[in-house]
Amino acid sequence: MKALAVGIDLGGTNIKGGLVRRDGSVIVKKSVKTEVQKGTGPEPVVGRIAGLVADLIAEGGVDKSELVGVCVGSPGPLDSRRGIVYETPNLDWKDVPLSDMLSPLVDMPVFVENDANVAAFGEQWAGAAKDSQCTIMLTLGTGVGGGIVINGELWRGVNDVGAELGHMIIDYAGRLCGCGAHGCIEAYASASALARRMKEQVEAGSASSLRDAILAGEDVDAKRIYEAAVDGDRLSREMIEETGRLLGIAIVSYVNIFNPDCVVLHGGLVNAGDMLFQPLLAEVNERCFESSLRVLRVLPSALKGDAGIVGAAGLAFQRAEDIA
Ligand SMILES: [Zn+2]
Repeated sequence: MKALAVGIDLGGTNIKGGLVRRDGSVIVKKSVKTEVQKGTGPEPVVGRIAGLVADLIAEGGVDKSELVGVCVGSPGPLDSRRGIVYETPNLDWKDVPLSDMLSPLVDMPVFVENDANVAAFGEQWAGAAKDSQCTIMLTLGTGVGGGIVINGELWRGVNDVGAELGHMIIDYAGRLCGCGAHGCIEAYASASALARRMKEQVEAGSASSLRDAILAGEDVDAKRIYEAAVDGDRLSREMIEETGRLLGIAIVSYVNIFNPDCVVLHGGLVNAGDMLFQPLLAEVNERCFESSLRVLRVLPSALKGDAGIVGAAGLAFQRAEDIA
């Protein structure tokens, strides 16, 4: 049995890669700039992924014959079975046959998966949700990504559009979401949405130590809001606590559907710790059925920034065995 796999986390700014063992441990990891240039087609970026794979093999001091293959976690929508990325605005890609393009360059099987799904798989395979039967993961970033892993298998939906947990509607007449619907949890609880809600409060006249910075047009992100909250800014604290409560309400619905034993939260906002988790857990504990709470754990990500590369490598092992 081949002992190693490469996991790639493809983003609009960076391409991260890792050479990973079957137990999920990372031998070597490396990152290169994606350097998207409009109008050049996908070849330059695919070439950089191939270069990164070669560098990982060289720096790990291993032989290519020890690898089962490469899995790329990519922004979607995509076709995981055929390895085609339909559309990624950040990369300016349209209908890119990523598996077929990359596989000859690296001379091994290449698999493609949705990036949020990959991170969820990573946490279940080798992270916070190890040994879980049913894991729900939320990634709090620019948007709210989601992933579901049941009995060690990703739930992709019928054609890879499944697990869009960020578009769970918590208020049918609520805030407008980037997807065009109203009231999705993403429109409230992503890191960007937190910053937007904070800005609205300040513009409406609420007092805050960040008031001058926000009104001066500075980029006040979730991290700064958390730091201000720790320094005693009441509005910042209230905004983070409200984010926790709203996330808790969305999680109640996931728990009611899936009866998971693990909900994992991923992304920089998770660093807010108790300030986010306490109000979140209060909603979950009050609103969920008692019997579902008996098995449920809500945990922060263990793999953090490595969830994408570890999860992708784990899926390379799993999918290489499926085709073997
Ligand atoms: Zn939405």
